[in-house]
Amino acid sequence: MSERRTITPTHRYRNNDKLIGIGNTFWNLSEEHGVAGIVGDLHDGVFRMADGHEFVNFTVCSYLDLDTHPRVIDGAVAALRRFGVLDHCIPRTRVQTTVLLELEESLGELFGATVVSAISTAAASTGLLPLMASGHLGNGTRPLMVFDKNAHVSMANAKPSCADETEVVTCRHHDLDFLADMCRRYERVCYVVDGSDSLGGYAPVEELAELQDRYDLLVFYDDSHSLSAYGERGIGYVRTHSPVLDERTITVATLSKGFGAGGTAILLDGYPQQTRRIIERFAGPLGYSQKMNAAAVGAAMASAEIHRTDELVELQGRLRSNIALFDSLLATEQSGSTYPIRVVPMTDETVVEAAQRVFAAGFYVSPVFFPIVARGTAGLRVMLRAGQTGEQIRRLASVLVEAGAQPAGPVAR
Ligand SMILES: *Cc1c(COP(=O)(O)O)cnc(C)c1O
Repeated sequence: MSERRTITPTHRYRNNDKLIGIGNTFWNLSEEHGVAGIVGDLHDGVFRMADGHEFVNFTVCSYLDLDTHPRVIDGAVAALRRFGVLDHCIPRTRVQTTVLLELEESLGELFGATVVSAISTAAASTGLLPLMASGHLGNGTRPLMVFDKNAHVSMANAKPSCADETEVVTCRHHDLDFLADMCRRYERVCYVVDGSDSLGGYAPVEELAELQDRYDLLVFYDDSHSLSAYGERGIGYVRTHSPVLDERTITVATLSKGFGAGGTAILLDGYPQQTRRIIERFAGPLGYSQKMNAAAVGAAMASAEIHRTDELVELQGRLRSNIALFDSLLATEQSGSTYPIRVVPMTDETVVEAAQRVFAAGFYVSPVFFPIVARGTAGLRVMLRAGQTGEQIRRLASVLVEAGAQPAGPVAR
C-alpha cells in the first residue's frame, strides 16, 4: 500500500485549498452575522423573510429594474406560449426553432453587432477563450493570452484550458506598459479584461485601442456591468468608447444584470459567417450544453424593445440621479463616477457588524473584507438602481453614517 502515490498539484492557475480556505472564512463570518444565506420573497421591491423582517436590497445588479418590469415578465410568458417549447434539447447546430435567431437578430440590430447568444457569460467565456488561445477566433496566430489580474472569475477560470493551447500570463490591473512590452515580444497578444469592473471603474479602452492599432492586439472584454446602464440604447461602456470595433475586439455581456432578462450576448464585428459556425460548434458549452430557453429569450426580446424607446433614456436618467443623490450623501472612492457601484469604506474589524446593523434597519448591503479583498479595502457594496426612491437612498445613507460611514464632505473628493 505504501507504493500508492500521493499527487502534488502544480496549482499554476487555480488552487482550491487556498480558494476554499480563504473563501469559507469570509462566507462563514457573513452567514453568522445574518448577512449571507438570506431567504425571502420579493414583493414590489421589498423582500420579506419568514420571520417578518423586511428589507430593500441594495446589492442587486439589475440597475434599471428591468427584471421586474411588467413588459419583461409578460414577454417571457408570451414567448413560452408562442414557441410552445421551453428548451428543445438538441444542439442548435443540428436542429433549432427560430427562437434564438429572432433574438440574435433583434440584439444585433440594437447593439450594431453580430450577436451570438449563450445561456450565460460564464459559459460563453469558458467556450470562447480557448478558441482565442488557439487562434481560431482571431487571425489564426496563437496569441500570448494576458489575463488582467482582476479579470472576473468567469474569465480567469479559462486559464488552464487556454494554457493547453498557448502561453498564459497574468498582468497587473490595466498594466498598459506590460501589454505594450508583450506586444513587442510576441507575434500576437490577447488581453482579457472586464470592460466595467465589479468594484467600480472602467477599462482603458482608448489606450487599448492604440495598442490594437499599433500591434494588432486582440482584446476580450466582459462588459456585463455596463450593458443597458450605460450608453445610447444601453450599448455599454466598451461599445460606446472603443474606436476599434472589428475582429480585434470581442465583447461578452450578460443579459441578466442591467438588461433584466437572462443569458448573454457575444458581440462580434467583422468576422465572417464561418466564425459563427466555429463558435456554435466548438465554443465549449455553446456546442454541448443548454441554450437560452424561450422564457429568457422572450424576456430579452421585451427588454430589447424597451431599449429602443425613450423609457430606456428615462431609466438611465433615474439611475444617474440616484447615483448623484448617493454621492451627495456619502463619501466613497467611486464618488462622481457614472458607474452604479459604490464601496462604502469600513475597517476589516467593523464591516460585518456594520452590514448587520444596516440589515436590521431594513437594507441589504453586502460586506466585502479581507481575505476576499486586500487588507485595508474593506467596505459595504452598494448598488444604485433606477427604481430606488430618494427616500430609500436618504434613509440608507443615514443608517450607513450611524454604522460608521463617512458623510460626503464639502471638499470634492
Ligand atoms: C455577473 C458577471 C458575470 C456572470 O454573468 P452570467 O451571464 O450570469 O454568467 C460574468 N462576468 C462579469 C464581469 C460579471 O459581472
